[in-house]
Formats: sequence, structure tokens, C-alpha cells
Amino acid sequence: MRPAVAAKDKKPARSPKSDLSVRSDDKISDLLERKCSIASTVGILSDAWAFLVIREAFFGARRFEEFRSGLEISRATLTDRLRRLTQEGILREASYSDTSSRVEYKLTKSGIDLYPTFMALMQFGDRWLDPTDGPLQLIHEDCNCVSKPLVACSCCQKKITAREVTYLDGPGAGVVGAETNARRTRRTADDFMRGRPSSVSRALEVIGDRWSFLVIREAFYGAARFDQFQAELKIASNILTDRLSRLVDRGVFKKRKYQSAPERFEYLLTPMGADLHGPIMMMMAWGDHWRAGGEPPMLLKHTVCGKIFTPTVVCNRCGKPIHAYAMKYRMRYDPNKFGGRKSSRAVPGRV
Ligand SMILES: [Zn+2]
Ligand SMILES: [Zn+2]
Repeated sequence: MRPAVAAKDKKPARSPKSDLSVRSDDKISDLLERKCSIASTVGILSDAWAFLVIREAFFGARRFEEFRSGLEISRATLTDRLRRLTQEGILREASYSDTSSRVEYKLTKSGIDLYPTFMALMQFGDRWLDPTDGPLQLIHEDCNCVSKPLVACSCCQKKITAREVTYLDGPGAGVVGAETNARRTRRTADDFMRGRPSSVSRALEVIGDRWSFLVIREAFYGAARFDQFQAELKIASNILTDRLSRLVDRGVFKKRKYQSAPERFEYLLTPMGADLHGPIMMMMAWGDHWRAGGEPPMLLKHTVCGKIFTPTVVCNRCGKPIHAYAMKYRMRYDPNKFGGRKSSRAVPGRV
């Protein structure tokens, strides 16, 4: 069984292998990698502190001290992340009193638009990583039901699975210069677990750092063997070995021997790993919308309805798209331990 979905229509922007394989004499600046909207989203969410600040904003935090009381974060780190997220256009500053120069931080439209991605990650975390069914219960106001949102096709509204999606080059397809390895340092995974209990944190902890995201992405594009991952990602062998074994430990991949002499293994997505497809597709949709300048590098085709689609998070009860304004939640933990309850709504009031 090969849960990875092979591109049937057309391979997405593969880089020419012959002259781009990783050799020790390659200059980093010569290396190219796939242009991809997922990577830009991952660049934001794979920083644990940035992710935690966005999450607290969804819980209603706006002021410096509100962020600080919900997270055990130093002033310097919080100042840095608030500045970076403002530069990224995820948060915006607004003064909260005429008489003082103090500012509060509000989610921008693009920040609020990360909500469906958080929902997809949360559902993944609830399904696979939390025996208690998750620390939050979501109530969809449109239908007044307890909702377990799912990632669906924008054309036929059916739930999408990895096997039913093929990838085509979009108008923005191509390759970009690879970042140097040095910038992609691995963080300790438990950074994500600070503050309140969160299935989104659990999901990000399992996925790990930026390299791990990209390894999982390549698995969805059909990579299974070491050299396939390496050829696409231009990743150093020791880093790839580390990330693959970590993802096996975390239950995302299972390792299968495909050759005995010399011994060779391939890495196949487990059912849990395959279920990351929804969150990864939502990250791609966000990157396409907010970072690709209207030219998505890749188009998704749903084989069930035969149409090019945008992944959308919908309510599993009424089928309507989920918006942050129409979601309430009930906590299954004591919010006072984590900076208190600011709101029972995902985004209190409009920006
Ligand atoms: Zn469809
Ligand atoms: Zn609903």
C-alpha cells in the first residue's frame, strides 16, 4: 500500500535531477527548490512562539500583558514575536487609549484567515493525539451544533482525502533559490506545548520543525525513498536521516524495507500521517491567498468531482464553511490557569 498520492495528471514543478543532485561540492546558492505556498505558511507556524502568540490572539488576547500571562514567555521574546507578526501582516497595532501611547495587537484579515488552518490542525490533534477528545468543544453558531470541522472541496463540498487529490502546476509554478541549511535549525518540539492544553500544539509538536513539514509535503507529492526526498528538498543527509527517524517515532511514517543488499528502506505515510493532508492543504490555501500574489504555484484537482478546487474547512454537521466569527467554544480545562477566559468566541468583534 502506498498512501502517498502520485501526481497522475502532471508532476508538479520537479527540478531537473541530473545537475541538481546534492553533492558536497554544490554551492548552496546554486540549489533550487520547488516554489510552494505551504512553505510560506510553515515559515510562520513552525516558529513555536509565533504560533503561540497567534493562538492566544484567537483566544482574545490583545494587550502585551494578556499575551504574557497566557504564555510563560519573556518580555524580549514576546516583543520580538509581536514585532515580527506585525511585519508579516498577521497582527496590526492599534492604540487603546487616547491618553497613552500603549498599543494592542489585533489580528488582521490574513491573521484571521489562519483560523481554518488552526481548525484543521486542531481536528487532527483531537483525532490522533488526545484520548479525551480534545480540550475544546466547538459550537458552530450557524447550525447551533457541536462541530468537528473537516477539510472539504470548494466545488462539491465533500471531505477531501489524500488519495482523491492530484496536483497540477499552477500559474506560479517554478523553482526558487533554496535557503541555506544553517537557517533551518531544529527546535525542541516541546516548545509548542506551553500554556493552555491545545490540540493544535499537539499537532504541531508531532509535525515538528520546518524541514519535517517539507518532508511530509513531499510524501504527499509521492516521495517515499531517501533519495527522492533529498532530490526534491536539497536537504543534507544527516538532517534528512534525523527528520525521517523522528517522523517514524512520532507515528507519521512507517519504515519498510524494499531492498536487502544493500539494505534500503522507504517511508510510507501511516493512516495518521495521511490524515495530515487536510491541515497541509489548508496551509497551502492560506499561502496561495496571502503570499503567492494571485499566482498559486500548484493547482489541486479533486478526482471525485473532477474540478480544480480550493480546500475549505466546513462544519461536519451543516456543511457550511467555518468562519472565526461563527464559532464558540467550551473549554474542558480551567482557563484561569492560562491567563483566564477572555472570550468564548474565536475572534471577539470584527477587526
Ligand atoms: Zn470536489
Ligand atoms: Zn454547522
